[in-house]
Amino acid sequence: MGLIRAVFDAAFRQGGPRLKPVGPRWPLLLFHVDTGGCGGCGMELEALATGPYDMEGAGFGFVQSPRSADVLLVTGTLTRTMAPVLEAAWQAMPKPKGVICVGGCAMDGGYFPENYSVLGGLDRKAKIDLQIPGCPPSPQQVLDGLCSLFGQRVPPARGAQAEGSSSTSS
Ligand code: SF4
Repeated sequence: MGLIRAVFDAAFRQGGPRLKPVGPRWPLLLFHVDTGGCGGCGMELEALATGPYDMEGAGFGFVQSPRSADVLLVTGTLTRTMAPVLEAAWQAMPKPKGVICVGGCAMDGGYFPENYSVLGGLDRKAKIDLQIPGCPPSPQQVLDGLCSLFGQRVPPARGAQAEGSSSTSS
């Protein structure tokens, strides 16, 4: 466990304070890793992605690869098995990047405190950009949390897009 924690801490803490993970991309791309727990928070994220919450209208979208992600969403308590997976996902993400804990387990371990197979929450292991509490938080609470961190995000200027498209078509 010591080795895993040492590697994990180094990966998350290197380079001092991170930039706020706001990029020029539209939408801001989220990559989800479920590191343990009961899976309830992960199900809420699936509902956010597929339900009537218009997360893309708010400027967010999920991606299947950390290599194109801006923000790492973590759900569940951190198990020993998933620690290297989480670290690998983080290392694969381009900078600037951020990490958000969704649900109580990801924050402090919740119902799954430290033991031989569980390392607990991320709150004392990594610099977290945002913690969204709840067990689980609802999809709307997750979306509200994202908006509270990144502010009101607006799509690329439509006028600029129209100009660009007209100049290429002429
Ligand atoms: S915070 Fe609650 S819902 Fe989310 S993984 Fe933990 S026990 Fe499950």
